[in-house]
Amino acid sequence: MFDLMTRLFPICRSITGNGVRETLKIISEHIQLEVHEIKSGKKVFDWIVPMEWNINDAYVKNEKGEKIIDFKKSNLHILNYSIPINKKIKLDELKKHLHTIPEQPDDIPYKTSYYNKQWGFCLSHNEFSKLNDEYYEVFIDSELKNGSLTYGEYFIEGKSKKEILFTCYVCHPSLCNDNLSGVVISTALAEILTKNKKEMNYSYRFLFIPETIGAITWLSINEKNIEKIEHGLVLTCLGDEGNFTYKKTRDGNNIIDNIIQKKLIKSNQKHTVKNFFPTGSDERQFCSPGFNLPIGSLTRSMYGEFKEYHTSADNLSFVSKDGLKGSFETLVEIIIELENNFKEFKNKKNNKIKKNNNNEVIYLNLNPKCEPQLGKRGLYHTIGGPKDGISPNIEAFLWLLNFSDGDYTLAEISKKCQIPENELIKYAEILIENKLLKKI
Ligand code: ZN
Repeated sequence: MFDLMTRLFPICRSITGNGVRETLKIISEHIQLEVHEIKSGKKVFDWIVPMEWNINDAYVKNEKGEKIIDFKKSNLHILNYSIPINKKIKLDELKKHLHTIPEQPDDIPYKTSYYNKQWGFCLSHNEFSKLNDEYYEVFIDSELKNGSLTYGEYFIEGKSKKEILFTCYVCHPSLCNDNLSGVVISTALAEILTKNKKEMNYSYRFLFIPETIGAITWLSINEKNIEKIEHGLVLTCLGDEGNFTYKKTRDGNNIIDNIIQKKLIKSNQKHTVKNFFPTGSDERQFCSPGFNLPIGSLTRSMYGEFKEYHTSADNLSFVSKDGLKGSFETLVEIIIELENNFKEFKNKKNNKIKKNNNNEVIYLNLNPKCEPQLGKRGLYHTIGGPKDGISPNIEAFLWLLNFSDGDYTLAEISKKCQIPENELIKYAEILIENKLLKKI
């Protein structure tokens, strides 16, 4: 797993483009991935498959002709999805396009701008502080054009058609724990399950997709088949040596929730169990109210909670072979437990809409399948990848959208997210104006 990660680390990945293809090609040396190409412009629920982005080179040169920022030294230096540029500008103007983390002056941040056409560079705050007031040559040799979104899928047929889904994302550039750890562990699990497939009751499906838009695209294409998914996990941040964190499925009482919690208690190691929250990774889409799949997420140190997260410090020295091995073994034990319990359990779906008898405030999400694209309505931040999580207003939108399935009252949502009801109502009004929510 560590060797595979070392090979994948230098590749500049994004939500589309050749970096993803190269990554999937290398994974295909281990498991026979089915690679899908979905054309730019295809409508997937409320979203559109974006234009494809590729980059050859990028740098900033000072007046002496020295490259003071060089994409070839670290692909984190480029604001992911930057449009091409080639011009000379003064420091003041350049600064508007530079991103740093003053609190972690040695580290380069990871930033994206998938849906707003702009350009930018990321650098350590130490390097930023050294910039003189002079002219700089900025050069980005990138291309944004109609192409496709690429993802990989691997299916292992078991005795039953019921499926266990493992999903990880392949859109982050040189970052290890988030999420090459998920990629290499998924590959290793897929390999070992293939070898043992005759003994498997369940069928297994592995997804290697770009985060968010990949999950939305996959769900949109495979909507008819998702009923087969009996259990699932989003695999991310599994390569460090931190304690395990389990984020429960949306309902919180599915078989996978019970099995993983029991397993963590039995391990006698410190661990954290979190209730589902509608921010995070692709569980946001899989557990949107229109799907509500029994999919949880297992991590060690959770995204957003370790200081290396979304910076150049999340590198090959931050993750370890022991960390990967421990995560892999834990997942194998979880799979064995799911297999052993194959006959006994069945997930019960509970899709009733609550009758509103008590004059409670209840909203209904009018776009329940995956998140609506808040960005195109001006309701989302334009630069992605913030270390300190998303802003409170977006958090409120996501809580309202995820739990407004008719079954939860405003009071119940408020209790879950710890945002006062009167605050939530203000955000609900904005969603109502945007035809994303209605009062029932
Ligand atoms: Zn991330």
